[in-house]
Amino acid sequence: MQIGLKSDDKKSSIFDGISELLEGRVQVKPRSKGRVQLELAPNALEFIETEKFLDGPNLHYPQYAVVRDFFELLCPQCNDLENIYSKIDPLMIGADDDTAQQHRDNQVLFKHNICPKCGFEKLQNPHQFNNYNELIGVVGMRGGKSVLVACMSAAIIHELLCVDSLQEKLGLVKSQEIDGAFVAASGEQASETIYGHFRGFYDNSPWFQEYRRALLDLEILDSTLRRGELYWATEKSIHFKEKHIRIKSLTSNSGSIAGKTRIFAVIDELSRMDAGDSKRSATEVYRVLKRSLITIKASVERLRRSGVYSVPDARMFCISSPMFEDDKSMMLLKQSEKSDKMFAFHRTTWEFNPDISKEDLADEFATDPLGAERDYAANPPGSENPLILNTAIIEICVDKNRVSNFTTREVFFEEVLDEFKFSYIKPELTDFKYKNVAEYVIHCDPGQRQDSFCLAMGHLEDDIVVIDGAIECRPIHKNNRQGLPPRDVYFPAMTDIIMKLSRVLSIRFLSYDRWNSTEQIHKLRTSRIAAFQKNLSRDDHVRFVNSMAANKVRFPKRENEFIDPTIARNMPCAKALWELKRLNDDGVRVDHPPGGTNDMIQCYVGVHRLLLHPEEVISIPELKKEQRKQRMHGSNRKKIGQVVKLSPKGLRR
Ligand SMILES: [Zn+2]
Repeated sequence: MQIGLKSDDKKSSIFDGISELLEGRVQVKPRSKGRVQLELAPNALEFIETEKFLDGPNLHYPQYAVVRDFFELLCPQCNDLENIYSKIDPLMIGADDDTAQQHRDNQVLFKHNICPKCGFEKLQNPHQFNNYNELIGVVGMRGGKSVLVACMSAAIIHELLCVDSLQEKLGLVKSQEIDGAFVAASGEQASETIYGHFRGFYDNSPWFQEYRRALLDLEILDSTLRRGELYWATEKSIHFKEKHIRIKSLTSNSGSIAGKTRIFAVIDELSRMDAGDSKRSATEVYRVLKRSLITIKASVERLRRSGVYSVPDARMFCISSPMFEDDKSMMLLKQSEKSDKMFAFHRTTWEFNPDISKEDLADEFATDPLGAERDYAANPPGSENPLILNTAIIEICVDKNRVSNFTTREVFFEEVLDEFKFSYIKPELTDFKYKNVAEYVIHCDPGQRQDSFCLAMGHLEDDIVVIDGAIECRPIHKNNRQGLPPRDVYFPAMTDIIMKLSRVLSIRFLSYDRWNSTEQIHKLRTSRIAAFQKNLSRDDHVRFVNSMAANKVRFPKRENEFIDPTIARNMPCAKALWELKRLNDDGVRVDHPPGGTNDMIQCYVGVHRLLLHPEEVISIPELKKEQRKQRMHGSNRKKIGQVVKLSPKGLRR
C-alpha cells in the first residue's frame, strides 16, 4: 500500500502519465493528487482480488467474466474474443477453480487501460468498445450476486477517488457533492444487502482503511482542520469530504432517492420492490435513480464527443432474483438486448456459484418445482399458478414466418352533440388476407374490464387450428402516462369490420364471450352471420392447451419481440401470447393475474372452441339446422361451379 502525503513535485495525473509509464520513462505507479495520494489499481479485477487493495474473494470464473466484460478488460488484439465468448466461457461454467485459473491466466487484460502485451491503448480507441454504463444481473438465489456487485461497486468508488479534480473534469463546481447510492427494498436484512456486503469489504480493505486513516491523521496533524472535515462516516454513509464524494445506503422508501448529481446507483433485489412494504414500485425506483444520473451522464457525453474517455461515466447496477416473467428485472434483461450501453447476465444459481450444484437443490426441485425453478433456475413463472407450465410450447406453436392477416390502424374522431363532445377511437381495417377455400370462424371479446375490443379469426387446416390474425382496439384511459386526452372505443366499428369481412370471405360461425353483446349479435344475425354467445369455461382453456401440447395450434408471430404489448398499442398478436404465458389457473377458473388482462388470448381460445367444439357454443338443434343449411349450400354451390367448402372437423361427429 503506497499512500503518502501530498508531494508537490509530482506533475503527472493518473491519466496523463500512463503512456510514459508504459515506455518505462516514469518509474512510479499512477497516483492521484490531493492531500492523500492514492494508488490506482491496474484494473477492477486486480482491485477486487489483490490483498493490498480490496482484499476481496477470489472470484469464480462466471463472476470473473462479468467483471472482465462489464469493464471491457480484454485486449482485442491479444485475445481470440470469439473463442473466449462462445467456447471457453460456456465451458468454464461449473469447471474446477484450477482449470478456470489456467484459462484466466491465458487471457490478456488491460492494466491502466493499456495492454501489457501489445501496448494497445483502450482510451485511444474508444469506438471499439461499448463503454457500458448499466449492468443488469438476474441470478438465482444464493448465487453470490450481491457479493460480486458489492466488490464491483467498491472498484468503482476506488476509481472515482483516484480521479483528480473529478468535479472540474465533469464541468461541475469544485465543491459540488457527487453521490453514490445503494438502494435496497425496504425491510431487507441490512447484512444481506449489497451495501451490507460492500461495507464489510470496506471496513476490512487495506486500501480504503489506509486512506481513511490518512485522512483522520491529517485532521489531527493539520491545525487548520477540524475533526470530521476530511472524512465522516456513519453506519449508513461514508463521506469523503476531501473529494466531495458521498456514499449512502438507502431504501426504496427513502425520501432522498431522487438525488441530483449521482455518479453511481446500485439497486438491490429490484424485482422485490413490487412486493413487501416498498412504497415505490420497481419501475418507479429504477426511473428515479436513472434520472439522478443524468447530470453527470450529460457531462460525460459532452467530453466523449470531444474525444475524452478518461473520465468515468455515471453507472447503474440493477441486480435481482426474478419474481415473475414480466417483472422489472426481466423486462430490463429484454431491453438490454437492444441497448449497447447495457451489459446483462442471466444465470442460474449453480451456473454462477460452483459451490452449489444442481444436485444440492434436488430436494427443493422435488418438493416445490415451480418455486425452485423461479428461485434457483432464475426462470420465473408468468403467474402464481400458471395455466401453461412449460412456456416453451408457446414458442413451438408460433409460426415465425407468418404475420397477422389483418392490417389495421387506429382512427381518432369526435362526435359533437350540442354542448357535449364525445371522443372516440376505432380500428380501421386497411387490408386483410384470406383463402377462398377456407371457412373462417371469429371470436369477439368486447372486454368488460378495460373496455377494449378484441377479435381473432381462425380456420382449420386438416386438424390444425390456424389463428389467422387478431385485432385489438384499446381505449385511452384518463390519467394515462402519455398525457393523451381520454377516448372510448367506438363499438359499432367492430360490427362494421365483421360485416366487411363477411362480404368477402366465408365466415362459418362467430361467437361472443360476454353477456352485454346481445345487440351486436342480433345485428350480425340480421346480416346473415351465425353469431352466438357463450362464456369461455376452464375446460375450453384446458382443451386449448392440450391442442398446443399436441402441436395442433398455429399462432401468427409477434408484431415485435421486445416491446411490451400491454403498453404499446396495436400489437394484438404479441399481446395474446403475452397474456397466454400469464394465465392463472386456480382449478375452477382460468383468469388473468391481478392487474393483468386476458381479452386477446380469450379470442384465440374462442376460435379454437368454435373450430373443434362448436357443440359447446351452439345447441344441438341449432347445430343440426346449421349443418343442413350448409349441406344445401354446399350442393347448390357445387352446381354453380364454386369451390367446395371445407367442413370443420368438429361438425363431422
Ligand atoms: Zn494486446
